[in-house]
Amino acid sequence: VTVSGAPDMDHAGRRTRLVALLADRDLDGLVVTSLVNVRYLTGFSGSNGAVLVGADGTTHLATDSRYTEQAADESPDVEPVTARACTDALVELAARTGVRRLGFEAHVVTVDGLQELLALAGGTELVASGPLVETLRTVKDEAEVALLREACAISDRALADLLPQVRPGLTERQVARALEDLMRDHGADGLAFDSIVASGPYSAVPHHAPTDRALERGDLLKLDFGARAGGYHADMTRTCVLGEPADWQAEIYAVVATAQRAGREALAPGAALAHVDAAARSVVEAAGLGERFGHGLGHGVGLEIHEAPLLSATSAGTLVAGTPVTVEPGVYLPGRGGVRIEDTLVVRDGAPELLTTSTKDLLVLG
Ligand code: ZN
Ligand code: ZN
Repeated sequence: VTVSGAPDMDHAGRRTRLVALLADRDLDGLVVTSLVNVRYLTGFSGSNGAVLVGADGTTHLATDSRYTEQAADESPDVEPVTARACTDALVELAARTGVRRLGFEAHVVTVDGLQELLALAGGTELVASGPLVETLRTVKDEAEVALLREACAISDRALADLLPQVRPGLTERQVARALEDLMRDHGADGLAFDSIVASGPYSAVPHHAPTDRALERGDLLKLDFGARAGGYHADMTRTCVLGEPADWQAEIYAVVATAQRAGREALAPGAALAHVDAAARSVVEAAGLGERFGHGLGHGVGLEIHEAPLLSATSAGTLVAGTPVTVEPGVYLPGRGGVRIEDTLVVRDGAPELLTTSTKDLLVLG
């Protein structure tokens, strides 16, 4: 299924939910500086923009003259403002129109940027709002899930086309290039992130960047990659072996696969985030490999590759239906090799929806 153009995104509905959060905090408006949050609230996808949402829902989108037409096209239902310094212009507008308490994204605005805003704010009080839009973004609507599903399907198809081509002698860089070309061929807007192609001893490096190392018979080969579709990011990892697996390779693979299944099965509305991590981690620990699984179990994914919620031992909070997350345990033996298996899934009432459907059996290549 190819998505032609953006599906109907309910930007106005998102702004209505944001207005309710503003009322809870006694804010008369929020100036949104994060470009991802700007896109989420208005659909505008240019590289310079900011949004002012008022307590009554009135929304101004500021961008510079390079993007005037694009903004009118992508965001026809908001008030346009043309300015180079977008956040500055919107804070001035808020001050001019008598906004009393104006929220700003303290996790995005720089220290220098805040000094500028304070100089422009006049009698308007600037209030650090916390990640309000990010909180809204955690639970996805079905239009968003459709784009994630598309991004994951493209990634699955690219992997299926790649695997028959993988053989000893190809370098990690060549494999990465082929995989990335295949994702574009299958309709990706771009890459969700720089692909990880890690062979042999490098497979023990969780976030290895591809090198000119040539694949050898007996290598584990770890591929962590994803396509982007309509701004939404797929994230998946598969680990294969070139030639028949050694006993130690098959053993750690079986541990990771069992842990990954336990993590997936723990995904449910209301499940504690730390409990989901523990469900997978306890499998790795029981195999005596707990020390070799150093990272968290997974993360939210959407307009950014890493979003809330984090699935880790120290995460507070619980899962909510409609939240896409990754489940990605790994075991890494330094100098020898490592295995990670990662899927993107959506938390649903009942069983989670699996978006990355490539087999998780140990694939023996070449
Ligand atoms: Zn990944
Ligand atoms: Zn991930």
